[in-house]
Amino acid sequence: MSFTADSLLLFGATGDLAQRMLLPSLCALGADGLISPNLKIIGTARQDLDDAGYRNVARAALEKYLPAERRGSMAEFLNRLHYQPLDANDISGFTALADKVGPIGEGLAIFLSTAPGLFEPTIAGLSASGLAGDRVRIGLEKPLGTDLESSRHINDAVASAFPEDRTFRIDHYLGKETVQNLLALRFANILFEPLWNAAHIDHVQITVAETVGLESRVGYYDGSGALRDMVQNHMLQLLALVAMEPPANFDATAIRDEKVKVLRSLRYVAGEESVTGQYRAGAISGQPVPGYDDELGKDSDTETFVAIKAHVDNWRWKGVPFYLRTGKRLPERVTEIVVQFRPVPHSIFASKAAKTVPNKLVIGIQPEENITLQVMAKVPGLDRQGIRLRPVELNIAMSDVFAGPVKRIAYERLLLDLIEGDQTLFVRRDEVEAQWDWIDAIRAGWTEHGITPKTYNAGSWGPSAAIALAERDGVTWHE
Ligand code: NAP
Repeated sequence: MSFTADSLLLFGATGDLAQRMLLPSLCALGADGLISPNLKIIGTARQDLDDAGYRNVARAALEKYLPAERRGSMAEFLNRLHYQPLDANDISGFTALADKVGPIGEGLAIFLSTAPGLFEPTIAGLSASGLAGDRVRIGLEKPLGTDLESSRHINDAVASAFPEDRTFRIDHYLGKETVQNLLALRFANILFEPLWNAAHIDHVQITVAETVGLESRVGYYDGSGALRDMVQNHMLQLLALVAMEPPANFDATAIRDEKVKVLRSLRYVAGEESVTGQYRAGAISGQPVPGYDDELGKDSDTETFVAIKAHVDNWRWKGVPFYLRTGKRLPERVTEIVVQFRPVPHSIFASKAAKTVPNKLVIGIQPEENITLQVMAKVPGLDRQGIRLRPVELNIAMSDVFAGPVKRIAYERLLLDLIEGDQTLFVRRDEVEAQWDWIDAIRAGWTEHGITPKTYNAGSWGPSAAIALAERDGVTWHE
């Protein structure tokens, strides 16, 4: 059913995500007039606050995390906010929550920004208190489970109250401009699509590198690890967008149909095609940082780095490896996709100085949003010793080209789509399950072969085995 919600109920309203991303996004949307002035926002968590107390929490968060020029009238935004204390494990508290929400007018959008262990009791409470009807949709933050079985369990619980067309699974990478721009690049240009296949592409690399260590995520991260925290969701979504067939339309069904086909075509990874690592003490930007075990305060087998050679077993990608790499305490913070094209079939340039370097497309997602295409060019000169060639970059920095439009937080787009009911940038259940199926098989392989993380120094690009994983194929990681 199509409706624009006029109330938003935010679980986990005092948490880190709410303070850093959700409240700033909502305030910015309000300042730009993109949400209705009548949108009422109700926050809930266990902390005992009243409306005024929550508005103070929100004000402090906005002052900390939203640049002043994007805030608009803070007083106006804060006046939208209401708060109801609730322990989501206690079903009796949901009646008071429903009273606070009030009658569901045009529609209610719910955002669960709480640990997934709370999803089931929350859904039960919402159902029991009349907060799960036809005009209610629900957004769920990751992680959706820790494996296929637990994800099915969560999805079943959600489905008992919210049908798929009212369930919005968030992968905030899909809210990023450059990720959406990947679709524009591929499908709004004639240049790339004819070359976007095994005949012309040698391999693809996807890197999500972080410089941070555990930070405040000690409790969560050690039970998760890099594979489940990053690869299962964000990196597989990026891979699916790179590898999918052209959808017929830019709509939720067409795009998700194509992504899920890719995810289901992923070949199970063989033992020697993945490398795991865990950082030890080292230095980032010249500053000493402790090792993972020191930060955690105990030994652990959790991987903080993973590199995988993946294959999409279909006609388009036959024989084209997708190298995935993610880790903490790497030398720089960067998320990028590198599409390495094949060499020209025959070079007409005979001189040694005219060696052609295969074209490469680099799509930078963060921290900078840019697209760089490496092409060959002639070095200026009279060429008495023969023509000289050199790779040069066609560089599109999105911040320069689109200097006018404001740079938005990914959650602005996702919250707006949740309020308005557009599922295109949300992950469908079959996608999540295909992702988990592939990830579970990797983890089962690690257990079966007794694979535990190799150590690497903080500030390096991971264990040397990760370099060897690519170099065995004559491939160098893009750095
Ligand atoms: P957090 O800082 O620990 O916040 C958790 C929130 O849930 C708090 O508002 C907490 O408030 C509330 N809460 C905890 N137990 C509750 C209960 N029994 N009943 C009702 N409310 C309860 O966590 P977060 O970092 O905001 O993350 C929230 C979710 O988003 C997690 O699933 C996380 O994995 C996911 N996520 C976070 C980020 C991020 O950048 N932070 C990124 C991606 C995904 P009280 O303690 O007062 O109840």
